[in-house]
Amino acid sequence: MTFTSETVEALVDQFTRLPTIGRKTAQRLAAFVMKMPREEVVEIARALVAVKDKVRNCAVCGNVTDEDLCGVCTSPRRDAQTICVVEEPNDVMAFERTGEYGGVYHVLGGAISPLEGIGPEELRVRELVARVSGALTLSEDARARIPGARETGTLPPAREVILAMNPNVEGDTTAYYVGQLLAPFGIAVTRIARGLPIGGDLEFADEATLSRALEGRAGL
Ligand SMILES: [Zn+2]
Repeated sequence: MTFTSETVEALVDQFTRLPTIGRKTAQRLAAFVMKMPREEVVEIARALVAVKDKVRNCAVCGNVTDEDLCGVCTSPRRDAQTICVVEEPNDVMAFERTGEYGGVYHVLGGAISPLEGIGPEELRVRELVARVSGALTLSEDARARIPGARETGTLPPAREVILAMNPNVEGDTTAYYVGQLLAPFGIAVTRIARGLPIGGDLEFADEATLSRALEGRAGL
């Protein structure tokens, strides 16, 4: 199937830039878009631009949010002394889907990968250390909205940090590095169990596997 319109071809090209979308799927999507009512297409276009304009990282955990702080960090129902460290916001969603985790998160924004030129400086590692050591300065607004922070002016002290990086070389490297950095603070540092397929992506693990990996976490 070849399109004769340059405009359609341009759309197909744009779709192929997305992960998991090959040329054939891109062509099917483009054909579908052409049949959609104009208003619906505008809604999709607006949603695409909005994630770039409105979404930011939570000032405490780095997760994606439309405000300064995310819903997990401001929730009175979460255990703010247990911090699960993940690579990407999608990993937070994976843990939330299990419904088993009641702590808070810290999103690094990736994993250490010398091959891709990603070192600790490119990740939110310093922010994690600041958070655990109690050196993170909270804004007036954050103090008012984070449970327990109003009284003390700071985050509740961490009791356990769970390292939940992907089970691959980059994830292992990152977990080791972060574990070493956190060792002097005298808190429990654990890593989720190896129930996950090696080389796999945590974000695609099913809920049961992820829950088991969380339950079976062990000290470094
Ligand atoms: Zn947050």
